[in-house]
Amino acid sequence: MGTVQTYTEEQFTEWNEALEGKTPQEILKWAVEEFQPGLTMACSFGGPSGMVLLDMISRIDTSVEVFYLDTDFLFPETYATRDKVIERYGMMPIGYKSKLTPEEQAKEHGDQLWLKDPDLCCSIRKVEPNGRALEGKQAWISGIRRDQGESRGDAPIVQWDEKFGLVKVLPLVSWLEADVWAYIVKNDVPYNPLHDQSYPSIGCTYCTKAVKPGDDPRSGRWEGIDKTECGIHTGGDVIQIETADAK
Ligand code: SF4
Repeated sequence: MGTVQTYTEEQFTEWNEALEGKTPQEILKWAVEEFQPGLTMACSFGGPSGMVLLDMISRIDTSVEVFYLDTDFLFPETYATRDKVIERYGMMPIGYKSKLTPEEQAKEHGDQLWLKDPDLCCSIRKVEPNGRALEGKQAWISGIRRDQGESRGDAPIVQWDEKFGLVKVLPLVSWLEADVWAYIVKNDVPYNPLHDQSYPSIGCTYCTKAVKPGDDPRSGRWEGIDKTECGIHTGGDVIQIETADAK
């Protein structure tokens, strides 16, 4: 992964200056004009931001591919939310799975890898599949926001994604949690029902807990472990996985 950057730093500065203050819909329209058909959108069905972006893109260009990472450990409510999206928008999100089944992972790396080495588990089940989802694309859209914690606090609207070797666009980067929910309510956007049961951010069943009122919304992810990111939006290499077929 990590192809050569084909844009200059000046280009990103120019884009960011032009897009600052624009609405998420305007940023999405710009991304479609600039990159489609080389554009793809990530949606986990486990956070409200991705649902908002889906609703927005469905009104702009339904040909934009939408993908999610099927770690094999998702909540039934997450799959149900995906199905609601298919029904509501007629879009067909593509699920990318790890090259290792949970059984193969346990055989190669031991049981309950998410407890012993969650970074490796996320590399195998999220980061590597994310790389495959982005292969051949020019740009991807993600719902991350600056209010989601320190590691995301200075994220630009558009940047070169060194890890995956393409442009990353963040239309909701300056929105707050409240803006996202206001949009969902106003537009009756489907969302993961676990949000109504104190799960503000939903990932894998093994690594997601409900949070107490007033706690950081992402504190239910990898609770009790010094980990706040799965590794998709941070630096480092993408793991290469050899499957039995390839050996
Ligand atoms: S969130 Fe947990 S179970 Fe899911 S891939 Fe990461 S460590 Fe593994």
